[in-house]
Amino acid sequence: MISVWEKETFYAPQDIIIAGSGFVGLWSAFYLKKRSPKLKITIIDKGIIPTGASTRNAGFACFGSLTELLSDEQKMGTDQMLRLVEMRYKGLEKICNTFHKKDIDMDMCGGYELFTNDENYLVEDLHAQIEYMNDLLEKIVHNKTYKPAGKKLKSFGFSGINHLIRNNLEGYLHSGKLITALLHQVQMQGVQVLNNIEIKKFEKINGRIEIETDQHINLSAKQLLICINGFAKKLIPDLDVEPARGQVLLTSAIDNLPWKGTFHYKQGFYYFRNLGKKVLLGGARNLAVQEEKTFSSSTTDIIQNELERFLKEVILPGKKFTIECRWGGTMGIGNEKMPIHKEISPGVFCCVRMSGMGVALAPLLGEKTAKMMTA
Ligand SMILES: Cc1cc2nc3c(=O)[nH]c(=O)nc-3n(C[C@H](O)[C@H](O)[C@H](O)COP(=O)(O)OP(=O)(O)OC[C@H]3O[C@@H](n4cnc5c(N)ncnc54)[C@H](O)[C@@H]3O)c2cc1C
Repeated sequence: MISVWEKETFYAPQDIIIAGSGFVGLWSAFYLKKRSPKLKITIIDKGIIPTGASTRNAGFACFGSLTELLSDEQKMGTDQMLRLVEMRYKGLEKICNTFHKKDIDMDMCGGYELFTNDENYLVEDLHAQIEYMNDLLEKIVHNKTYKPAGKKLKSFGFSGINHLIRNNLEGYLHSGKLITALLHQVQMQGVQVLNNIEIKKFEKINGRIEIETDQHINLSAKQLLICINGFAKKLIPDLDVEPARGQVLLTSAIDNLPWKGTFHYKQGFYYFRNLGKKVLLGGARNLAVQEEKTFSSSTTDIIQNELERFLKEVILPGKKFTIECRWGGTMGIGNEKMPIHKEISPGVFCCVRMSGMGVALAPLLGEKTAKMMTA
């Protein structure tokens, strides 16, 4: 049983309850409070800390690699691909405008895409594709995004890579520091954040959304916003969102690490960056696509062994290192790459399916969600 004090404070009826304190839930709360400071907002998270992808990712401030955007264009058409890029680009701008870069270790130092001999491409074709994509992107970024960077290959010391493309608009940040900064920010705006409570069910009764949790506490709000990304099917079974596990590892510090930045390989299925002198590498999900459609965040041998092979044979050939830690996290993907951002029934909204790009997408989506909910 709960006391009257608990009932009238922590569990009091709210204007808005947000499920999920990842980047999307937090940016949404931030913009909701900016638009309507008096709103009573509570964020509920099932973890003792935010426990989805936001605290378990690679920290790329990701704009997207050339081959990723070309592949997106084929699947979604030019306009949709550009819309998604614009959302990422504007999202990254919003992060820079909201926080001091040094507080979240954000560095827009640029990124690269790697190509190996066994990939079926011609350098001349790549150069033509760079020009083509730069022209398409120019109206969004007002700059040249990609350029050939083969000259850097020798100094970077990779093995088996025979071409590089530089992306001037990518960078990285510290996801733990960004989520902590966002949590502090929304709490300063008066948002209540409750952890270790899982939302199990919701139902509209007499004009309010009644919410059942795993803690024998029922909550109630005028509106509910569901930001649980890869876990969305648990609350909204009909939605086109599947969990997709991403796995990562981090090496020990490497003496004289000869490169800095974010790196993509095979349309982004492999990605790595430096974290100081360490290397953070993730991906290889394409090796076990079905097995990785899981809510579990454990690591598996098949993926981790492949990541280690890639490290030893391609990224750090001949260098000494140990693996300091490994982890997994849950992304939300579906048949389409565009996020789902809508009112699913009167008073119930969702903002999910970040398709592995939520660091960059969340700020703009949070702002759009706030507008939709307060229109
Ligand atoms: C290994 C890995 C690497 C990645 N690398 C990058 C990258 O470099 N750059 C990039 O942009 N993106 C990356 N991503 C994707 C990015 O992290 C996500 O797109 C983003 O964090 C999604 O944010 P979110 O707020 O939508 O969801 P989440 O961060 O998953 O937050 C959802 C929250 O909801 C909570 N929750 C779930 N169910 C319930 C419930 N029923 N009741 C209450 N709470 C609930 C969870 O505990 C969680 O905290 C990566 C993801 C992974 C897994």
